[in-house]
This record gives sequence, C-alpha cells and structure tokens, in this order.
Amino acid sequence: MEKADFPPKPYEKAEIGIIGGSGLYDPGILEDIKEIKVYTPYGEPSDYIILGTLKGRRVAFLPRHGRGHRIPPHRINYRANIWALKSLGVKWVIAVSAVGSLREDYKPGDLVVPDQFIDMTKNRDYTFFDQGVVAHVSMADPFCEHLRKLIIETGKQLGYTIHEKGTYICIEGPRFSTRAESRIWKEVFRADIIGMTLVPEVNLACEAQLCYATLALVTDYDVWAERPVTADEVARVMKENTEKARRILYELIPKIPEEPDSELCSCCNALKTALL
Ligand SMILES: [Zn+2]
Repeated sequence: MEKADFPPKPYEKAEIGIIGGSGLYDPGILEDIKEIKVYTPYGEPSDYIILGTLKGRRVAFLPRHGRGHRIPPHRINYRANIWALKSLGVKWVIAVSAVGSLREDYKPGDLVVPDQFIDMTKNRDYTFFDQGVVAHVSMADPFCEHLRKLIIETGKQLGYTIHEKGTYICIEGPRFSTRAESRIWKEVFRADIIGMTLVPEVNLACEAQLCYATLALVTDYDVWAERPVTADEVARVMKENTEKARRILYELIPKIPEEPDSELCSCCNALKTALL
C-alpha cells in the first residue's frame, strides 16, 4: 500500500468517514485502497487513514485506537481524528464502538444506535473552540437523526437485533466500573450501554458540523450483572459483531445521500446558533 503525504490530492477526498472501534481495524469492504498520513493542528490522528471506494462512494477509514489497538481511550487524539476526516471533505461519520450492556434485554451480540449520552469522562480535550472564539453547540440531540435512521433500517434488513434507542454513558477508563458505579449508571442514571470513547468524539463532530452517528456493538453485560464472562466468550462475540458491522457498512454506505438534507437533520448548521 502506498503512503501519500499532506496536502491531500483531489483524489484523496472522501465523503463518508468510518471510525473503527475495538475489533474493527480495517474495513475490509473497500476497493482501490490507499493509505495516507494526515497532519492536523492538533497533532497526529490515531493512525494512517485508509481511503477507498465502495460502490462509487469515497470512504475514509480511521481505526480509533490505531491498528493493533495501541492507544487507550483516554489517550486518543479525538481532535486530530475529527479534524483529519473533516480536512478530507468528509460530511458523514459512522462511528463503530464496542460497548457493555446495562440492561438485561440489550444482549451480547445485539446492536444499538444510541440517541443520547451521559458524559462521565474527566480529563479530555472537549472542543475546537479553546481560544479566540467561544462556541456552545447544542447537544440536546447529539446524533444525526438521518444517519441513525439509515443505520437502523440497514440493520433490520439484515435481520440483526438492533435497538433503535439507547443512552450511552461514557466513562473515563481505562479501568472498568466498580459494582457500585455500575449500579448507579443502571439504576440511578438509567443509561443503557457503557463505553469509553464516545466523548469527546461526538462533541467534536458536532462542532465540525459533521453528520455523526454511532453503531454500538454489545460485547457483554457490565459488572452489575455479576455474571462472570470468559475472555473467550467476549472474543467470540466481538468477532461476530465485527462481521455484523462490516455487513451493515457494506449495505449502508451506498444508501447515504451525497449531501446532508437540512430538512432531515441540522448537523451541518450546528454552529449557526453556537457562536458568541
Ligand atoms: Zn445530520
């Protein structure tokens, strides 16, 4: 594979971005693949970006943790990742993420397309608007409703169990929750799934006025369930989930419109009311 340098040539553009989570380090569905290194004002993204084509659509793929899972959740350069995708011309971002379940009926192997989140992270770079310009973007509905619908529709067509709503609680990590914390997330906060990487990726995507939605893959029950799972079980579910994610992406990408429709979502106007 060829490695090209910045600035990107016109053919090094993409409309659709995929951020791969644990288990998904290579989309495996793209043609005419090329790897490029993108430089950003915030430093280096998690890895080289894989550019390719799927049914005529230009796609940029970035593994969130880097290939080989090198970068823990609290060390990911979220600003560089989102900036890099934006600089390639990306308008839509599908973020794939492995999560734990906080509900009995969101089972390992199920898929969830969250519609809300709770931020319990502690020490990350949350914004592009650190100095000079003050912006408060609305997070009332943090995900692109249009992209969410397309993901849900595709998951259903493939016959997968896909939950249309869910509150994702994002913890700082890299440690897992204590039993007491897990019960708070479940019973007091009433969150549905738990992970470590949604925030600030989603905030930054919003500031960059990207259409962003998450495809969450349930790997296991969080510690509240007091049901010990073996590493083998988790590995097996993750492998199956990764295959489901690939199939969804393969069917979903051709359905994504070329331009976001301001009747169906307001993602690309997120800054209109945010700047002071
Ligand atoms: Zn949108």
